[in-house]
Amino acid sequence: MPAYDFTRRTRHPSDPDVVVVGAGLSGLAAARALTGQGLTVQVLEAQAHLGGRTATHELDGFRLDQGVHLLNTDHPEPGRRLDLDRLDLRPLSPGVLVHSAGRRYRVGDPQQTPARQAATRGPLGSPLDKARLAATLGRLAATPAPRLLARPETSAARALADRGLGPRTVDGFLKPLLGALLGDPSLTTSSRVADLVLRSYARGRLCLPAHGTGALPAQLADGLPAGTVRLGVEVTAVATDGVETARHGRIAASAVVLACDARSAAVLLPGLRVPSFHPVTTYYHAADRSPLGEPSLLLDADASGVAHTLVLSDVHPSYAPAGRALIATTVLGRRGFGAGGPAGFEPAVRRRLAELYGTPTEGWEFLSVRHLPDAIPAMPAPHHLRRSVRLLAGLYVCGDHRDTSSVQGALVSGRRAAQAVLRDLGLDTASRSADVAA
Ligand SMILES: Cc1cc2nc3c(=O)[nH]c(=O)nc-3n(C[C@H](O)[C@H](O)[C@H](O)COP(=O)(O)OP(=O)(O)OC[C@H]3O[C@@H](n4cnc5c(N)ncnc54)[C@H](O)[C@@H]3O)c2cc1C
Repeated sequence: MPAYDFTRRTRHPSDPDVVVVGAGLSGLAAARALTGQGLTVQVLEAQAHLGGRTATHELDGFRLDQGVHLLNTDHPEPGRRLDLDRLDLRPLSPGVLVHSAGRRYRVGDPQQTPARQAATRGPLGSPLDKARLAATLGRLAATPAPRLLARPETSAARALADRGLGPRTVDGFLKPLLGALLGDPSLTTSSRVADLVLRSYARGRLCLPAHGTGALPAQLADGLPAGTVRLGVEVTAVATDGVETARHGRIAASAVVLACDARSAAVLLPGLRVPSFHPVTTYYHAADRSPLGEPSLLLDADASGVAHTLVLSDVHPSYAPAGRALIATTVLGRRGFGAGGPAGFEPAVRRRLAELYGTPTEGWEFLSVRHLPDAIPAMPAPHHLRRSVRLLAGLYVCGDHRDTSSVQGALVSGRRAAQAVLRDLGLDTASRSADVAA
């Protein structure tokens, strides 16, 4: 652990009850639950902006997220922690579009009956294969999550191969879909996590906030007392009774919640598990008009390097200035980008986009690329869905790496850490904890 002076234990009247390190979703969710119980909290964020991996940046009137965040209306925690109406969630078109071997087809609308899906056109195998896929999605939707979690656990790729579905259904739909939803093109993710993700896909709708993912942390922060979040404050050491910061001295507290990404958390507390990560690279292009004209997720089932693409301004016009379209294209995995880095791969992405959308793309404007090597903590089998958030009385850790690598997981972990703090401070009685109840 970095050097920490344990002799300076006195607390100043302005010191908070709890310090939360990190203003991503997990830290903000923890802070909301703690302030909701009357505790004073300081959320210290090293960056100059809120939100961590869910931050949105504006560029010439375009809204650019760190990467496309596919939320699902079936995930319960966002609905508990956030005012979804105010977020103005915009659903994507039902099912997905898949591009494979020069053809584009729509598939996987869980609302369609197996008979209807069997009758759909497209190269996904025989009508029987399509009916089997529909039945599989229907069964997953109806299976309680605990039953899925009791199934034998292997990799998602292995489980898909063992499921008795046609190879074209697997390669032409399930693999690219799961790869996109898990950020894991090799499908090394735990089959149980993959089942949960497919179950949510079958039960809910993919959606995006109308004004970018940054609207999620912004709304959580809006519900905190003024002055709770301090931006540009980097924490350099943590203990059970406070933190040291790079430029703002020591801040004492009765409890410290470490809500950093996994790698930063392990710098502050060596010994904390650091998972491997799935990198995500997102290319943003602007065009004069939408190449699709609908908010459909377009999956690339060929091994082109591109995983999926989406016209964000078709999801909501606020993603682009008037008269312009914003296209976000995702490349998954640890590919060698070569000397040009991720930006050097842009011409290849643009060429592939011409094939995917069936339209010339030379005139498109390349706005930006976001490359996050540590975007998504890997969740190979066996994946522990609820890692302990209490390290010691007074010291807690949360973040997506403690639950599942998602918005849902980050919010749950923040809530769990807050509950552990409240319990240790003797404040977590059933009657007082409505805000943090599961
Ligand atoms: C490109 C991309 C695509 C994604 N797609 C999806 C998706 O489709 N669906 C989905 O559900 N999820 C998706 N995710 C995952 C989701 O964004 C994360 O699971 C979630 O945002 C993690 O929140 P967090 O609070 O755990 O961590 P973070 O957002 O990483 O927040 C941690 C914060 O701690 C701060 N910090 C670190 N060290 C210090 C320090 N020493 N002092 C002070 N502050 C510090 C960081 O600056 C950061 O703001 C995606 C993520 C990425 C990057």
